[in-house]
Amino acid sequence: MTNVLIVVDVQNDFTEGGPLGVKGGNLTATSITAFIRAHKSGYSRVIASRDWHSPDGDNGGHFAAKPDMVTTWPRHCVRGTTGSAYNPALESELIDVQVYKGDGSPAYSAFEGNTPGGASLHDVLRTAKASRIDIVGIATDHCVRATALDAVDKGYSVTVVADLCVGVDQVASIKAMAEMAAAGVHIGFSTDTR
Ligand SMILES: [Zn+2]
Repeated sequence: MTNVLIVVDVQNDFTEGGPLGVKGGNLTATSITAFIRAHKSGYSRVIASRDWHSPDGDNGGHFAAKPDMVTTWPRHCVRGTTGSAYNPALESELIDVQVYKGDGSPAYSAFEGNTPGGASLHDVLRTAKASRIDIVGIATDHCVRATALDAVDKGYSVTVVADLCVGVDQVASIKAMAEMAAAGVHIGFSTDTR
């Protein structure tokens, strides 16, 4: 079994102080760093995704002046801005591979992302011979959900580490956990033996 960790969208704009800052985002970033430090040797790769939008236009209807916070959002994670940078509590030296998504169009799943060299996440996972994927990050009810559902769809054994994820909306996050579990995603915890 080759294990890979995917850290979804732990960026300034999705943590406290950002236009889409979720409550608990900073703490989640700190907890993810502590988790990676403790478990790095158990993962062949630590991969992080970043939402990385174009500064021009609304990125395919993703940005809106009056967002519904379900399918439209305030302007966020414009590529190269401070808002698109990792939350400072996420130690970027612990990350082996970065994938960027959403340049010009909405992209919730990290599987829609590419490395700076143009490799897809699926390519990266195939190269790593990944069989098991643990997923942590932001937000449970959106990008974590979409990434986990794509990962099981592609045949990986997937665990969402529930206590290292945080959502936009609590009820939607619980529903997303149930939906992921029904799709075959294991819902686990950072304290599980690994
Ligand atoms: Zn976005």
